[in-house]
Amino acid sequence: MSTNDEQQTKKRIAVMGSTGSIGTQALDVIRANKDHFTAEVLTAGSNSDLLIKQALEFQPNAVVIADEKEYQKVKEALLPHDIKVFAGEKSLVQIVEMESIDMVLASIVGYAGLSSTINAIKNKKPIALANKETLVVAGEIVTRTALENAVNLFPVDSEHSAIFQCLAGEFHNKIEKIYLTASGGPFRGKKKDFLQNVKKEQALKHPNWSMGEKITIDSATMMNKGLEIIEAKWLFSLKKEQIDVIIHPQSIIHSIVQFEDGSMKAQMGLPDMKLPIQYAFTYPDRIPSSFPRFDFLNYPQLTFEKPDHESFPAIQMALDCLQKGGNLACALNAANEIAVHAFLHDKISFLDIAATVEKVLGKINFVQSPSIETLMETDKTARTLAKEITG
Ligand code: NDP
Ligand code: MG
Repeated sequence: MSTNDEQQTKKRIAVMGSTGSIGTQALDVIRANKDHFTAEVLTAGSNSDLLIKQALEFQPNAVVIADEKEYQKVKEALLPHDIKVFAGEKSLVQIVEMESIDMVLASIVGYAGLSSTINAIKNKKPIALANKETLVVAGEIVTRTALENAVNLFPVDSEHSAIFQCLAGEFHNKIEKIYLTASGGPFRGKKKDFLQNVKKEQALKHPNWSMGEKITIDSATMMNKGLEIIEAKWLFSLKKEQIDVIIHPQSIIHSIVQFEDGSMKAQMGLPDMKLPIQYAFTYPDRIPSSFPRFDFLNYPQLTFEKPDHESFPAIQMALDCLQKGGNLACALNAANEIAVHAFLHDKISFLDIAATVEKVLGKINFVQSPSIETLMETDKTARTLAKEITG
C-alpha cells in the first residue's frame, strides 16, 4: 500500500478549538490511535504557543489562529514545515471546506463555534459535536441543515453520547423519555444564603470533571444542564416532557433512555471525556482504549437526587426557553456567556449570573421562527443588555 492509500484509510479530523479542554483530549485520542486518525486541521482562539506546539507534533495540513495579532508568530514558527497558516474569524469558518477533512470536531467554546459548524454541515462534513451552544442558539436551523445535507451530528457531550450509545440498534424504537444525569457540581446541596458569597475559585473546582472555565461555571450554576436539555431536544427530536434531569453525584451513569415498554438503558463508566470523543470518531465501531476501567467495589453506592430548582434556577429558565421556542434560547445563551465572563472577572456575584440571564430574557423581543440573521441580531442585543446589567 502506498503512503497515499494508507493516509486515506485514516479519518482526517479538523480539531476546531484544539487548545481547549476537549481539543487537547481529542489530540490525546488521535495520538493514541495513529492508525485510525490524523489531525488535518488545528485551530485556536489566541493561544499561539500551544497551537504551534500541537502543529509541530501533529503536522496538520493547516492551522487557524482566530486572533490575528498572533498570526505572524505562528506563521514564522511553522515556516520550515509544510503547514498552511491562516488567521481571523473568516478563515476559521472557511477552513472546514477543505476537501481533505473527513470529520469536524466542533470544540470551540460558546457562540464563537456556531458559524464554522454550520459551514461544515453545508459542506457535508460529519460533525463530532462538543459545542452544545450551537444547538442552544440555532438548534432548529442546525438540525434542519444537517438533515438537508444528510450530515450526521455525533454527540461528544458525555450525557448525549450516553443517550446515543443506548440508542445504537434502537433508532427505530420510540423514546418514552430520557434522564440526563448531573453531578450537581461543586455546590450540590447548598442554598442561596451560602451561594451568595461563593468565589470563582470555589466555583471552578468541579468534583468529577476537569473542563474549560466557561462550562465549569455553567456546571456550578446548573446552566450546563439547562443547555444540555435544549441540546438533547434537538439531537434526539424530543419534547420538553420527555426530558428529565436527575442528580447523580458519582457521575458514573452518564444518562438513561427509557423506551415505550418501560425498559431503561443506561451507559456507564468512569468520567473521562476521551471516551465520548473517541466514540464520536469511530461510530458505529468501537476501538480498544487504555482509559481506566470502572471497579464496582470502589463505588458501593450510586445515588440519585432531585435537582434543587429554588437554589439553581437555570434549569427552569432553560426549560421555559425550550417550551416557548423561537429566539429565546439564543438570548439565554448570550446573556449567560456575558454573565459567566463577568463573574470570572469579579464583576458580579455567583447568584447574579442567573439573575442577569433572567433580566435579559424579560427584555428580549420574541421572534417565533427566527432566521440565522435574526438569531445573530438576538445574540448581539442580549449581549448588550447583559453588559449593561453586569457593568
Ligand atoms: P475551553 O475553554 O477549554 O476551550 C475552548 C477552545 O475554543 C480553545 O481552543 C479556545 O482557544 C477556542 N476559542 C475560544 N474562543 C474562541 C474564539 N472566539 N474563536 C476561535 N476559537 C476560540 O473549552 P472546553 O474544551 O471546555 O469546551 C469546548 C466546548 O465543548 C464547549 O462548548 C463546552 O460546552 C463543550 N463541552 C466541554 C466539555 C469538557 O469536558 N470540557 C464536556 C462537554 C461539552 P484558546 O485556547 O486560544 O483560547
Ligand atoms: Mg455534559
